[in-house]
Amino acid sequence: MFALINLSYLAAAVCFILGIKGMTRPKTAVRGNQIAAVGMLIAVVAALLHHDIISYAAIIAGMLLGGAIGVWLAKRTATTEMPELVASLNGVGGGASVAVAASTWLYAVNATGAGSAGWTAAILASIVIGSVTLTGSIVAVLKLKGNIGDSRNNRLWHMVTLVTVIAALVGAVLFASGGSTNPLALAALVGLCLLLGVGLVQPIGGADMPVVVALLNAYSGLAGAATGFVLGNQGLIITGSLVGASGLILTAVMCKAMNRSLPNVLFGGAFGGSDSSTSKQDEGEFYDGKVKYATPDDLALLLDSARNVVMVPGYGLAVAQAQHAVKELASQLESRGAKVSYAIHPVAGRMPGHMNVLLAEAEIPYDQLKDMDAINPELPQADVAIVLGANDVVNPAAAEDPNSPIFGMPILDVHKAKTVIVVKRSLSAGFAGIPNGLFIRDNSLMVKGDAKEVLQATTSAFKEL
Ligand code: NDP
Repeated sequence: MFALINLSYLAAAVCFILGIKGMTRPKTAVRGNQIAAVGMLIAVVAALLHHDIISYAAIIAGMLLGGAIGVWLAKRTATTEMPELVASLNGVGGGASVAVAASTWLYAVNATGAGSAGWTAAILASIVIGSVTLTGSIVAVLKLKGNIGDSRNNRLWHMVTLVTVIAALVGAVLFASGGSTNPLALAALVGLCLLLGVGLVQPIGGADMPVVVALLNAYSGLAGAATGFVLGNQGLIITGSLVGASGLILTAVMCKAMNRSLPNVLFGGAFGGSDSSTSKQDEGEFYDGKVKYATPDDLALLLDSARNVVMVPGYGLAVAQAQHAVKELASQLESRGAKVSYAIHPVAGRMPGHMNVLLAEAEIPYDQLKDMDAINPELPQADVAIVLGANDVVNPAAAEDPNSPIFGMPILDVHKAKTVIVVKRSLSAGFAGIPNGLFIRDNSLMVKGDAKEVLQATTSAFKEL
């Protein structure tokens, strides 16, 4: 039986690796996800073949209940809410690791007294990382939902974190030295680590939460791997390590795309969100009647003579659910001989790959999706670039204004296109909370409105030309 279980873990690991590989390209992402899901099923079934853990009836009931909750969550969650969902799942993973490690420790201490140094180290890692992941994820979800704002007193939170780290370290050393087999000592350590999770995430700005979620994802994997060592479960060690490594790589990729270092994200104070938002008055002064407005009819006329059109999707496209509307307009343009491409910024939207997922939903051909490095050299040749609910990722201040909070973040150079059409509902800022000089450039026009409605109106007008 053991050989079969270990072989199953190996098969699951191969599925996970193939799944992650598949998810690196839009074309193979869905298949990659399916392969990884099969791997997870194999791993769960193999782990539960140790039927001495709980009865088969309880296992089947748990799988049905968990599966049903998973399907329900997946169906009711909009793509714009994915970061919250992923953060919640990370928290659940971290919490499960703590629960398993703590209960295993209690069981073992009652039965045989303190365990080996390596085993105790694994218990500690699982408890510390799992607890931080649990409360850190709860804070991240609340921030993403806007239920708690960015902290005004970060210094206080950093002090809380420092004190908690020191107390947790002392507790961990006492615990590891076998000084206590008292469950209350374990409870105190868990409590300190839970507080540490809050202290670490609370001072980070809401706009940085997706990066934090990727990091917490890595933590949940590492906690799972540590729990694998606690239980001697190879499947959990492999899965946890893969999640930990891929989460860390994703965190690094996101930091690079925003031109921020991880320490700057974690300890640099709130970026964007409410803290750095420009007031309505400042916004008024910045734009001061300089924005030129157009209508969907004007846009249709402009597109009639355009040969090379670049669509630039952003968070607002996701909010408007305008992916099918943009495809419809693109099809009309192509039927009249224009070339259409889609410029994809790595942090457009609210999660990595957000725009790819959205456009794939409308079955937009993958070869029309161009990433930033590929499309930027082509933008000066574009007759029209249509910015659809994107803001920060096309803000020229990132390249031109050293005082801008987003200075250094690579952007899509849409301002270099012959004409830029910005489609959004108002002059409101994007997630970074700063005004956008693109809207007042000479070659810029704004069509005010919901992205889907503007696209549909433009398509109707275009068809009538
Ligand atoms: P932004 O958040 O900068 O701007 C979105 C714009 O969409 C808003 O200005 C809003 O303006 C407009 N909008 C909202 N709803 C609609 C609608 N229904 N129709 C038309 N427009 C709409 O989005 P970007 O995609 O440009 O940038 C993403 C931001 O998120 C960056 O700051 C990035 O750093 C950050 N971020 C992204 C991560 C990721 O992984 N993708 C991770 C971490 C951070 P208005 O209200 O006037 O309509």
